[in-house]
Amino acid sequence: MSKVARQSLKSASISVRGIVQGVGFRPFVYGLAVKHNLKGWVYNTSEDVKIEVEGEAEAVEQFELELETKAPPLAHIENVTIEHHPPLGYKNFEIRHSQAQEGKYQLISPDVATCQACLGELLNPEDRRYRYPFTNCTNCGPRFTIIEDMPYDRPQTTMRYFQMCPQCQAEYDNPLDRRFHAQPNACPKCGPQVELVNNQGNLITGSNPIAAASQLLKEGKIVAIKGLGGFLLACDATNDTAVKTLRQRKKRSSKPFAIMVTDIDEAKRHCHVSPEEENLLTSPQSPIVLIRWREDSPTSVGVSREVAPNLRFLGIMLPYTPLHHILLRDTGRPLVMTSGNLSEEPIARDNDEALRRLSGIVDYFLIHNRDIYSRYDDSVAIVERGTSQLIRRARSYAPYPIRLPFEAKQVLGCGAEEKNTFCLTKDNYAFLSQHIGDMENMETLEHFDSTISLYKRLFHIEPEIIAHDLHPDYLATKYAQELGESGIKLVPVQHHHAHIASCLADNGLESPVIGVAFDGTGMGADGNIWGGEFLVADYCNFRRAGHLEYLPLPGGTAAIKRPYRTAIGYILTLLGENALNRDLPVMRKADDMEIEVIKRQIERRINSPLSSSMGRLFDAISALLGIRGEIDYEGQAAVELEMAALSSVIARHVPSEARELDEAISGNNERYPYRIVEDEGIRIVRLKDLLSAVIEDFHHGISKERIAVRFHNTIAGMIDEMCQLIAGESGISQVALSGGVFQNRLLLRKTVSLLESSGFQVFTHKQVPCNDGGISLGQAVIANFA
Ligand SMILES: [Zn+2]
Ligand SMILES: [Zn+2]
Ligand SMILES: [Zn+2]
Repeated sequence: MSKVARQSLKSASISVRGIVQGVGFRPFVYGLAVKHNLKGWVYNTSEDVKIEVEGEAEAVEQFELELETKAPPLAHIENVTIEHHPPLGYKNFEIRHSQAQEGKYQLISPDVATCQACLGELLNPEDRRYRYPFTNCTNCGPRFTIIEDMPYDRPQTTMRYFQMCPQCQAEYDNPLDRRFHAQPNACPKCGPQVELVNNQGNLITGSNPIAAASQLLKEGKIVAIKGLGGFLLACDATNDTAVKTLRQRKKRSSKPFAIMVTDIDEAKRHCHVSPEEENLLTSPQSPIVLIRWREDSPTSVGVSREVAPNLRFLGIMLPYTPLHHILLRDTGRPLVMTSGNLSEEPIARDNDEALRRLSGIVDYFLIHNRDIYSRYDDSVAIVERGTSQLIRRARSYAPYPIRLPFEAKQVLGCGAEEKNTFCLTKDNYAFLSQHIGDMENMETLEHFDSTISLYKRLFHIEPEIIAHDLHPDYLATKYAQELGESGIKLVPVQHHHAHIASCLADNGLESPVIGVAFDGTGMGADGNIWGGEFLVADYCNFRRAGHLEYLPLPGGTAAIKRPYRTAIGYILTLLGENALNRDLPVMRKADDMEIEVIKRQIERRINSPLSSSMGRLFDAISALLGIRGEIDYEGQAAVELEMAALSSVIARHVPSEARELDEAISGNNERYPYRIVEDEGIRIVRLKDLLSAVIEDFHHGISKERIAVRFHNTIAGMIDEMCQLIAGESGISQVALSGGVFQNRLLLRKTVSLLESSGFQVFTHKQVPCNDGGISLGQAVIANFA
């Protein structure tokens, strides 16, 4: 070799971190090395992908560049380090065996919806995987739900029981095949199989269980279907009786169900799908997206109103496993798909467990023999102002971490109660768990505990600090306190401070903000129930700069379940007994005796906790107008008040264009009065004028829809005014909005547009739910600074 040629040789040791295993990264590296005529090797470790390449200097440089710019679609590169050294004289390029390292961890890919190439095979009668419901490749399929430990190799997954046939093995071994090292690789000859059984567990024989299940669905039957992260309950979404039966058996009288439709064209027949919503629906994450229901959907082929009673948004998703694709095509109509559980229990996972827990709900089970290791509900998202926001973060999002703007300690945040999650922090990451559920029963607590153990093991985290809510009765708080008995440091975190901190972390912010935390319930630092809070906050501290005035909730939880009690309590407290006019719709709910009880509860402070909650104010107005006096699910009264306001806006405008809706929303600026008073440096919003103006409007015959719009305008205006006052004294011009009330899209849009026109920089949630599903993240980041 000439001296010149030797000088142009270059060698590089490269480490790539991020989601780079199980996503076709090594074959990509192999292909890239071959293309540039480089020698060396690549392998997975517990921490990264290590690469060694050598060849012409220019080719090595090109390789380094393309490694990042041409990475496969599911790879998520966090960090690349490169060191150059003299060439070692490799003869070829090879993919070496994975190496496990003690104490090291790497990010794990969430499950991924079926890719187009696999779908093509699935639907092709000539293909050996035609109609095979477990078809997958390195670009799609199950990941997190089948992983028991890392590194991600087949023996560490629930696929280890299936021995690949020679054809599958050949695909698995060929670096140029789409299934090279696809750990769940399978085919009809060697992989998992589906079976149809009745609710007694008896096998229904026949060659085609999916076609048989689809026939039963068309006949109005309810079928439990084993999916990626658990069982889903399915029925024909166009069949009123089937949907009602499912509601009855599942003990869920009106909480909306999600539906699954065959493809994006069908989604567009049922909903007004914006381009951003289309992107989200068809993304590899394939979440449930809440989209405007088409009012003009022909009832003959339309989705039953029973699917989402009184709502104008429909939770809709596309098939995300091969089994779903076949089932939806066979059935030819939209299917309700809802978590396989009885009311608030965790989603059923194993075949035996499903038979035990769900046989009273369903007629048949479509089961299979690929075990699910992690329970995983469907994720739910919305698109607002062009960006997606997660309402429930689970399938296809967790356990991908939130990147933190600081180096974190090892901390566990235990969350609150409803829609709970937990969060573990380490390095620059916050590993926010998938949605666990309402922590109200032992099954959910067990799911919580075992999932914490899994995350600790996978990401090598041993928490040195445990953060929890101030509420002493939450199961999550008790869980934290039990861990604290072993001497580990406990950090109690105020609920609304946690909401704002989670919004900061969601946006990678570190500077203090004006935090608007609006929700239903959260234990305050003074022992009262907070929920209409204006804070000045960062990760270290918060100051309560303002809040809604305290009002009694007669009967406590009774008032939350029956908002008419809240409304009557507010009227009695703010306007006196004379305002309790029998003409008010809310008065139809309570007889004289109950009103006497409510009066006594308030006067004598018997079981009437004080609350500054914005959620309760929405409840009270909804009940006052006769929209919703008693609720079947959390937030229902407030949601239906929002729907009333929306129908007033929509009635006057063409509904399909988001921009026109925006104009319609900002076009109406009618507001109600309220007063802001200062008490020991805290600004308090007094609601007497607001309540009396609402009642006056009602007596003047103003429609409840129009009152609902005015009320939304008032709250948005109130937020803007309070933020301006707080900005005046603090000099802060950044506002963070968090708490479940901001799932109200009408309020969110109005608020953001007002704040922005006042010159504020506004931060809302994106990756993390604004509801209590984000609390654990807020707790964990705050505890990092405690
Ligand atoms: Zn695929
Ligand atoms: Zn096979
Ligand atoms: Zn909350």
